[in-house]
Amino acid sequence: MTATWDVPLTEIHMSDEDVAAVMDVYASGWLTMGPRTKEFETALAAFSGVSRAVAVSSGTAALHLACRAAGVGPGDEVIVPALTFLATAHAPRYCGATVVLADATSEHDPNVSVADVERRITPRTRAVIAVDLFGTSADTAALRLLCDRHGLVLIEDMAQAIGARRRDGAPAGSAADLACLSFFSKKQLPLGEGGAVLTGSDERAATVASLRSHAMTSGTWDRHRGHSESYDVVDIGHNYRLDEPRAALGLSRLRHLGDDLAARRHAVARYRARLAGVDGIALVGDDVDVACSSHFAFPVRTDTADLRIALRSELPVRGIQTTRYPVLSALAEYAEHADGSHPSATTFADRHVCLPLWGGIGDDAVDRVCDAVAAVCGA
Ligand SMILES: *Cc1c(COP(=O)(O)O)cnc(C)c1O
Repeated sequence: MTATWDVPLTEIHMSDEDVAAVMDVYASGWLTMGPRTKEFETALAAFSGVSRAVAVSSGTAALHLACRAAGVGPGDEVIVPALTFLATAHAPRYCGATVVLADATSEHDPNVSVADVERRITPRTRAVIAVDLFGTSADTAALRLLCDRHGLVLIEDMAQAIGARRRDGAPAGSAADLACLSFFSKKQLPLGEGGAVLTGSDERAATVASLRSHAMTSGTWDRHRGHSESYDVVDIGHNYRLDEPRAALGLSRLRHLGDDLAARRHAVARYRARLAGVDGIALVGDDVDVACSSHFAFPVRTDTADLRIALRSELPVRGIQTTRYPVLSALAEYAEHADGSHPSATTFADRHVCLPLWGGIGDDAVDRVCDAVAAVCGA
């Protein structure tokens, strides 16, 4: 199934129960958003330690609707990390806002610098989007205080961080006004495509739920049940609905997500023990981060860009897939932001490699990757 790699970047194991849960939906004859989506939302909120979850069609849709519920619009600025997946920065721009990129904390800590976010606040700033990169929570306790002081909305991009905790033990997402999950195939809860907005505010949850389905005052499921015979439209909404087969898959997989995250943590601990002494490599974060992260990916820092290039070309030759995140200003669409003011994000981007990681990766595969890394580093 997974192409030609001996050790792919990630792999999905679909249990018989997962498949049966999806097939049940197809047999039921009700496919679009309905009771299973509602049940999935309730389970997601409970899992995440946040009162409300609204399921949507992708993490990008979640970010877009979070920006809309935050009131982001033309003339506003939204501060976004320079080091993230591009969808974080696209979302405010869908609303007509301008993005301002903030640097990473340091060249060894890829999450956004709170001090740099603060420096970039202007009278036009409306919101800050924090990103929990690789599954490790950003400093949302400090960002919450900062946003409160300046009257800003805090959005948390948790696309890589379902089930993560902050270093102080609080659930990721709990300090944000709106937090966004992704269920894209490579994420920890893979549904193919899908996402959700988490919030402690019933009002914001209602706004997101409305905008996800054209801002219509009743849904297809309501009308099917005869609860409402007509509808009105009260805003320019979207079709960002999740469908029932994916909600059912999400419900089924959510039951095993805790085990999957624990298995990822075990693999990361083994990686770190094996790679600790390797010349030219530095581990990212500390033992507290390992305990709190939900381990979307396993990045290692290389001392030089040359070593990153060597690993990225030599590991594939040995059947091992890797990836890396570019700084946004290195992408054509964001080239105007390449003003030299993101040195930490740029250095981290140039000097890291993400190694294979998934819940079912065995010790043998981890050891094989570590041996290959050590061989390239010793060459
Ligand atoms: C995956 C990802 C997204 C987008 O999620 P999709 O479900 O693919 O739309 C947004 N932000 C980050 C940080 C991501 O990793």
